[in-house]
Amino acid sequence: MQPFPHNGRIMKLTFMGTGTSIGVPVIGCDCEVCRSTNPKNKRRRSSVHVETEGLHVQIDTPPDFRDQVLDYGISRVDALLITHAHADHVFGFDDLRRFNTLQGKAIPVYGSESTLDEMRRIFAYAFKPVPSGLYRPQVTLHPVSAPFALGRITVTPVSVDHGGAVMFGYRLDGGGRSLGYVPDCLSMTQAAVAAFAGVDVMVLDALRHKPHASHSHLETSLAMLKKIGATRSYLTHMCHDIDHETVQKQLPPGVELAWDGLRVKV
Ligand SMILES: [Zn+2]
Ligand SMILES: [Zn+2]
Ligand SMILES: [Zn+2]
Repeated sequence: MQPFPHNGRIMKLTFMGTGTSIGVPVIGCDCEVCRSTNPKNKRRRSSVHVETEGLHVQIDTPPDFRDQVLDYGISRVDALLITHAHADHVFGFDDLRRFNTLQGKAIPVYGSESTLDEMRRIFAYAFKPVPSGLYRPQVTLHPVSAPFALGRITVTPVSVDHGGAVMFGYRLDGGGRSLGYVPDCLSMTQAAVAAFAGVDVMVLDALRHKPHASHSHLETSLAMLKKIGATRSYLTHMCHDIDHETVQKQLPPGVELAWDGLRVKV
């Protein structure tokens, strides 16, 4: 694990997972990438952890959340932002319990109204009155649709097209830096592009080489990134079609493939 080289008023980004919904390696697949010994070809389900302005912000709790937390030494979660309620982004939600215990309080959770409704449905046991003694996640749900403050961080939810599913990307402004995170996205409106325009670091979906019904592929992702014009960009939510070393060499300057465990000073 790389240590962060810097303290002070900055923004730190940890890629906890950079894989698509089934992860890489894929169960039962013996393709070159799935058999690869390059750790950068091992991709858990997508999530990131952001530290800035004295707060630890988690974006999504995928099924691998517990392993990711242990591997990357995540010690706090002050707030959870949910992009959307697909299984690969929320099925580790129950493991917030440990942070409830460590921090002694409920964790605020932010997302679109429909995403939070889905959370209430999927994790009904966490929101119903139950006999005392059941150890369940303790959260407060905050539906958002416009920029809001988390301490000194400004969070801007940005709606993007994920093949018909409701999906929020997030822009975070804190520590004098700006980050855009959009793990699942087929396309963006001009308004969405404008919301991320010129961020210091942009993270975007790039599922594979060929087009897909609900995800952007490499060519369209690079075109979107060009319009956004971030200083640095990272691709995420990748499937086993993407061999890290091969594809990395083909990318334009300023764009890199993210990998599990990558830590970036935004
Ligand atoms: Zn996903
Ligand atoms: Zn494979
Ligand atoms: Zn999705």
